[in-house]
Amino acid sequence: MDLQQNSDLRLKLNKTNDENNHHDIYCFECHHVGQLITGCDSCPRVYHSKCLGLSLLPEKHWICPECEVNQTTPLQRHSINELNRMLKYALDRLKSHPQAKHFIQSMDEIPDYLDYIIHPIDLVSIEKNINLKRYCSTDAFIGDIKWIVHNNQSKLTNIARTFLKITRHEMTEIELCSECYLRSTQVVSTDWFTKPCSIPHTLCWAKMKGYQPWPAKVLRIINDEVDVRFFGQHDRARIPLHNCFVLSKEYPGSEKKKFNSNFEASLIQLQIHIDQLKSLYGHFTYAPLRTSLSKTKPFTFVSIIDGRS
Ligand SMILES: [Zn+2]
Ligand SMILES: [Zn+2]
Ligand SMILES: [Zn+2]
Repeated sequence: MDLQQNSDLRLKLNKTNDENNHHDIYCFECHHVGQLITGCDSCPRVYHSKCLGLSLLPEKHWICPECEVNQTTPLQRHSINELNRMLKYALDRLKSHPQAKHFIQSMDEIPDYLDYIIHPIDLVSIEKNINLKRYCSTDAFIGDIKWIVHNNQSKLTNIARTFLKITRHEMTEIELCSECYLRSTQVVSTDWFTKPCSIPHTLCWAKMKGYQPWPAKVLRIINDEVDVRFFGQHDRARIPLHNCFVLSKEYPGSEKKKFNSNFEASLIQLQIHIDQLKSLYGHFTYAPLRTSLSKTKPFTFVSIIDGRS
């Protein structure tokens, strides 16, 4: 934490013994002081009205956007145990960052820290929260990393923002498919990718620029791009929708299939995956050649029994 170098620039918090009215003096959005600050009823965050896009001060009993997200986020698809196990992997990824040392240091080591920082938080306290299974959603975890950004305004701002970016990426991965996330972080065996997830991913031929169509799993479709993970090296890419076709038995490329060891390895993995789907569901249906991927209706190769979609 970089408070020591900057405490002379930073204003001290207002001292109060009233636990219910213990608010920050820095806007949680722009991180500056100033007038027209509005305090949340549920947490110490304050905001400028303009930073909230409001022309008038909100009425009494106002809940900030961060608390609102946390209160309205429905309990996740994952169990609390499973979620916190995944968050531990996400945290390990943050801790392995070369700049992590700035956010690991315990705040107890800095004198007068609490005179300036209303809600001290570091990677150690986040780890404690994970161990106590305190996070009920990925948003709550992002919320704590946002506090790190808020508490580190100055020399470390950019690094803290990078941490927030990494966190958002990891949380998106967890939300996309927790099974893929857990298996890819543990990598106990190299065949993790051939095992079907409980909701099998739509399969496709995805053509990346400069490559031939390659078999892949669809993770999501955003606007006109398909977020895929390829068979073979398991690398990720975003491919334009018009360059992806639902998996057909026939190869969809306009040119002849070029065989090389990587491509052959990906076809072997694909076949193992299909065989596992067949043994789980009793059948597997290929799409007709060059079937476009639908943004709304994923192609079902197998009947999905538990009805989640
Ligand atoms: Zn502001
Ligand atoms: Zn709040
Ligand atoms: Zn998956």
